[in-house]
Amino acid sequence: MKALKERILQDGKCFEGGILKVDNFINHQMDPILMKSMAVEFVRRFAGTPINKILTIEASGIAPAIMVGYLLELPVVFAKKKKPSTMENMLTTTVYSFTKDRSYDVCVSSDYLCAGDKVLFIDDFLANGNAAKGIIDLVEKAGAELVGMGFLIEKSFQHGGDYLRGKGIHVESLAIIESLDNCEIRIKE
Ligand code: 5GP
Repeated sequence: MKALKERILQDGKCFEGGILKVDNFINHQMDPILMKSMAVEFVRRFAGTPINKILTIEASGIAPAIMVGYLLELPVVFAKKKKPSTMENMLTTTVYSFTKDRSYDVCVSSDYLCAGDKVLFIDDFLANGNAAKGIIDLVEKAGAELVGMGFLIEKSFQHGGDYLRGKGIHVESLAIIESLDNCEIRIKE
């Protein structure tokens, strides 16, 4: 998606270990106009896919997910990173975060992720695919169906996308970063 690619080149910053910071428009300050355009693009790319629920993980996935849910007029559920003591019918999985170098539990209530749901997962980044694998596990535990996964930014050099596409999942990424070597951002045409 042209506008996102241009914005990444303009405002994105590279950090050691293959990390791209987009705090200027996605992860800290947010640009709602761009966020809306990205959601419109997801709606276009997943047109024809039967979806009845949008799923994401807190915190950075919530903004794009709610925009998509708003456009499609569908409920948006976010998986939580801290287990609330009051959550009923909790489904849990463990996710390894390479940006934080630790594992954490992610949970969602089966009141909101249910058998028969046709789920579109939306998140900010796809890197090694660990968060996505956790989501696949949660969707399976709920007896729901994962109909697609949409990412604002995919870092193809970390190969989570290869894994997900290899499993036959419909993956859409609005910008694909091929390399951050030498702190130079190279985006797929
Ligand atoms: P994965 O689980 O695919 O390895 O990583 C995805 C998650 O890690 C995303 O939800 C995102 O929060 C975080 N992440 C991975 N790589 C980056 C990155 O380069 N920049 C930022 N800001 N977050 C990242």
